[in-house]
Amino acid sequence: MLKKNRIKSEKNSFFNSIERNFDKAAKFLSIEKGLLEQIKACNAVYRMHFPVKLGKEIKVIEAYRVQHSHHKLPCKGGIRYSIKVNQDEVMTLAALMTYKCAIVDVPFGGAKGGIKIDPQTISTEAIEKITRRYTSELIKKNFIGPGIDVPAPDYGTGEREMSWIFDTFLSIRPEDVDALACVTGKPVSQGGVRGRKEATGLGVFYGIRELCKMKEDMLSVGLDIGLIGKKIIIQGLGNVGYYAASFFHNAGAIIVALAEREGAIYNKKGLNVSKVILHLKNTGSILNFPEAINIENTEKALELECDILIPAALENVINKKNAEKIKAKIIGEAANGPITPEADEILEKKGVIIIPDIYLNAGGVTVSYFEWLKNLSHVRHGRMEKRFSENMNYELLQIIETVCKKTINPVDKKIILRGPREIDLVRSGLEDTMISGFHKIRDLKISSKIKNMRTAAFVLAINKIVDSYEKLGIFP
Ligand code: NAD
Repeated sequence: MLKKNRIKSEKNSFFNSIERNFDKAAKFLSIEKGLLEQIKACNAVYRMHFPVKLGKEIKVIEAYRVQHSHHKLPCKGGIRYSIKVNQDEVMTLAALMTYKCAIVDVPFGGAKGGIKIDPQTISTEAIEKITRRYTSELIKKNFIGPGIDVPAPDYGTGEREMSWIFDTFLSIRPEDVDALACVTGKPVSQGGVRGRKEATGLGVFYGIRELCKMKEDMLSVGLDIGLIGKKIIIQGLGNVGYYAASFFHNAGAIIVALAEREGAIYNKKGLNVSKVILHLKNTGSILNFPEAINIENTEKALELECDILIPAALENVINKKNAEKIKAKIIGEAANGPITPEADEILEKKGVIIIPDIYLNAGGVTVSYFEWLKNLSHVRHGRMEKRFSENMNYELLQIIETVCKKTINPVDKKIILRGPREIDLVRSGLEDTMISGFHKIRDLKISSKIKNMRTAAFVLAINKIVDSYEKLGIFP
């Protein structure tokens, strides 16, 4: 009986749901079983307990760092602070990172970290102590370093935690000239890259915008092409959800509902995202926003009428209990693993287009890659070419004005003359990555007659990882 229960819970684990998606994709490929097993397995799991003195008490903190794949180094993946953190979750998120990096051609193996704390209920000093101690534990076991494993922000963490991690690393490894590259998502003043903070949300925007340009895909769900007027619901107004909401709002989409942990707000004519954020800052909650109605049960917001649903909070929020009630025609997985495999099947039968997490939220790791490159090259992106481009543009304008015997007006001139700044390069790199990633998945889906984007994305990822194993000649 005990054995039976254990098997049941293993089958229902989050990690197992990723394995199921992987296995579906593997059927489209003829790859040796052993190699597939190696790609699926977590290469290293570090589970730690360490003591931290908080006030007068000593607390034992549970934390993890999982390196899912060493097929490329360093490993890369965010660190999550949540009371729900557990080994299964961290392993799954690390695996997703491996596939994500492969899809967007970022040369890293996947990793993830987690600390089992609720940052909302402890002081800033306590969070700092825990972050610094966690970093020293990682250093002790060689689980962090510019060429080994490079953490980044995730749920419950941000620039502040990343700068503590960097500072702790530097104080222990001051001789490492590349120390800045030990973590990404740092503030710009501490070696971060412009555009990292909004990268995941912006990537989500680019990915969904690309789908909405596809006539056949839009026809299949009865929608017009383009974003203007599309009704959107977003769950989670944190780093990813907030920026995604702002970009969609600015592009002319209508944000009909926003859901947070305390409840959701709804206005069928659309919510002004900046006003909602101001209201949240002033009152500590999105509820009671004057231009909206409250929805007490936040999960119910997912079931409201809309064109696009963007879960941007936590995993498993769309499951077999609510999948049938979802009215969205498109679901953009901004969060990691927001749809369970059972819900996936129900939604597929309903004809919903799902843009999978392993592609859609890869904007963060893409720009983290740009930050890591900046740190290793010890130079700001654009520093070498900005002035050169401006001089070239100036020469070109002079020739055009002479040949055309016309003077271009000063406002247009200023736009044309401008050389690329770091933010311009980062955004164009991100946009290009998201657009080309989308088309690689879509083309593969069509050419291999794959039913959905998730399986096509996994096929793409597995192929890329197999390629690098073969190039490495890794098996003796
Ligand atoms: P965050 O901590 O900045 O924001 C999460 C938000 O979700 C918070 O505002 C929180 O209050 C809200 N939330 C929590 N429970 C909720 C509930 N039940 N209903 C509605 N809202 C709820 O985290 P984030 O960095 O924005 O990450 C969100 C998701 O995106 C996670 O799944 C994360 O793994 C994924 N992700 C993040 C990044 C990144 O760069 N930050 C990159 C890739 C994927």
